Amino acid sequence: MNCHEYALTMNDLKERYQNIAQQLQQAAERFQRPIPQLLAVSKKHPAEAIETLYQLGQTAFGESYAQEAIEKQQQLAHLPIEWHFIGPIQSNKTSEIANHFSWVHSIDRLKIARRLNDQRPDELEPLNICVQVNIDTEASKAGVAIADLVPLCEAIAALPKIRIRGLMCLPSRLGSESNEHDQRLPFATLAKLLEQLKQTDSLDAELRQQLDTLSMGMTNDYQAAIAEGATIVRIGTALFGARTA
Ligand SMILES: *Cc1c(COP(=O)(O)O)cnc(C)c1O
Repeated sequence: MNCHEYALTMNDLKERYQNIAQQLQQAAERFQRPIPQLLAVSKKHPAEAIETLYQLGQTAFGESYAQEAIEKQQQLAHLPIEWHFIGPIQSNKTSEIANHFSWVHSIDRLKIARRLNDQRPDELEPLNICVQVNIDTEASKAGVAIADLVPLCEAIAALPKIRIRGLMCLPSRLGSESNEHDQRLPFATLAKLLEQLKQTDSLDAELRQQLDTLSMGMTNDYQAAIAEGATIVRIGTALFGARTA
């Protein structure tokens, strides 16, 4: 990534940021839903762009690549940013993630959750996580199968330094190019799964109460996600422009 190639000016960023904030508000009104939290997905964009958005009031940023994220975190160490990890997680990256993030949205295996738990420093708050669910089975390999969701949550619930906050999905590209009705289907499924999880007696009552997060919706489909009750939308392109790398 080369910062000099970054095309947006500070004013462009400001306009896009204000526009998205307005869009989220309008969608929430239109669908009679709460306004979701905006997670600004800054992968492949330079620290300077993050700092600009931070100065405008954005505090939560999402990154998909551990090494890239940590470099930017070092450049921005003077800012109290809340960092969310949203990408696929390899075992050899768990230590970096456990040490440098407040949230992880992409947990789909117990092995990874265990490593994050074991590597989470005692002086940090428990790591907030969303379990990523494979909503459209054939299209992608990421995410836990719906049938395995409850057992996975039961096992993660036993990890003291991991706090399950809810569910995340990343519908296939096919879905994100179709109309709003079709886009809503996987999000409705995820919302239903969260409701079911809250009613699952085998899960501890306190844990069920903290299940308040539906991480769903990106640049192309966040309206549909809000319609189905997204509490966090993860938006990159609409804020920062196209990713070149
Ligand atoms: C890149 C990414 C996003 C943001 O996508 P845009 O289409 O640029 O808004 C959201 N969620 C995940 C998991 C991503 O990898």
